[in-house]
Amino acid sequence: MKYYALTLRADSPLAIRADHAPGGAASAQYIPGTVLAGSLAAAYRLFYPDNEIRFQDLFLNEQVWFPNLYPASFKKSDVFQNATGWPVYPLPKTAQSCKRFPGFLPTEHETDIDEPRHGVRDSLLDWAMFALADQTTPDPDLLLTPLQEHKKCAVCGQLNRPMDNFTGYYRRLGAGGPMLKAKVDMRLQTHNGINRVTGTVQEGILYNREVIEEDADFWGLLKLSDTLAQPFEEFIDKVANAQAGWVRVGTGRTRGLGKVGLRIDSPDTPTGKDDFRKRLEAFNILLQEKAESLKLHTSPFYFALTLHSPVILSDGWQGYYTSINADTLLDNDTLESSLDLPEQSLKLLCQFSSTRRVTGWNELWGTPRANELAIDTSSVFLFACDKPLDTTLIDALYRPEEEGIGRRKAEGFGRICISDQFHQEVTLQ
Ligand SMILES: [Zn+2]
Repeated sequence: MKYYALTLRADSPLAIRADHAPGGAASAQYIPGTVLAGSLAAAYRLFYPDNEIRFQDLFLNEQVWFPNLYPASFKKSDVFQNATGWPVYPLPKTAQSCKRFPGFLPTEHETDIDEPRHGVRDSLLDWAMFALADQTTPDPDLLLTPLQEHKKCAVCGQLNRPMDNFTGYYRRLGAGGPMLKAKVDMRLQTHNGINRVTGTVQEGILYNREVIEEDADFWGLLKLSDTLAQPFEEFIDKVANAQAGWVRVGTGRTRGLGKVGLRIDSPDTPTGKDDFRKRLEAFNILLQEKAESLKLHTSPFYFALTLHSPVILSDGWQGYYTSINADTLLDNDTLESSLDLPEQSLKLLCQFSSTRRVTGWNELWGTPRANELAIDTSSVFLFACDKPLDTTLIDALYRPEEEGIGRRKAEGFGRICISDQFHQEVTLQ
């Protein structure tokens, strides 16, 4: 499997149909994989009108996994802006920051910092300690200590300002490196209504449409089978050298919206199994040490499952899972079938999740389709395992991170991360 870091730049404003507001004036703040696939398919048809077989391989046979493209504009930091090999991910639901001055601590890589920012941390381990204490001790003081410790912003100190959930998208410079939240500039555009009969401007009818400002960048990790790497690179080369406007994204194209440029880079993130194992071990050790300091009883191994895009898990009976527990993992062909784990050896310790409706529109075919229910991006599930981490378990967890889980993986759904490094950020960053 081959990976590409895909960066998309808006040459004109973009209007992306928001899932939660079908037909409404709001624009989504990111570009769904479905939209990206549809736009590239249309461009491919223009460049290669006769190459039907290749078209099917690239767009219809699920051999290319198009990602959701997340905001990647860092206008006040050239270093972050230009680090296009490093990923941009959604902040997990466990991320928290000062309610009054939210944001990552400023670093040397930025210029012109206009607002104070009191740092961001992750609260998953606090909740893990709460859940472990709940199982083992009746002492309410000990139970609440890990959570109360971080209820207030440490930087605000005596001012006692609370911490709050922190949402959005961030890029990290290198493993363990500094992080910065991407900025999305939106504005309202006012348009004249067009008379449907005469096709001319209808006097007195104005409406607003929310758009993403031009010059915004977006980022995603595209995965494809090795055999398609060369034709895909050739295609992107053509797009990159073509005049602006060959690839159009989103709605309002007749009004000049949606012109984009594309580039691909080699990803800088390590994706090998050895780095994977180290990340899992580091998270587990951190959790074990914290539990030990509170004298809490633990299982041999813990891992977090964090959603980098919405996950659609069908239950096989035309229903959808709204959460992920041990049964889901073991029954749903999510983990590699060779995983020899009795069900009771895996246990969901705590979760932070929500669901969202995925409205049905097939961008590739331009046809409507059934609505589906997805477990939303940024959801986090923490599992306890009765067995220590061994090669079987590493393999079983590595595959779903590589290949994704659930339905519509070719359209950006089902991207998960095991023990996301962000959960190790227990101090303010
Ligand atoms: Zn503060």
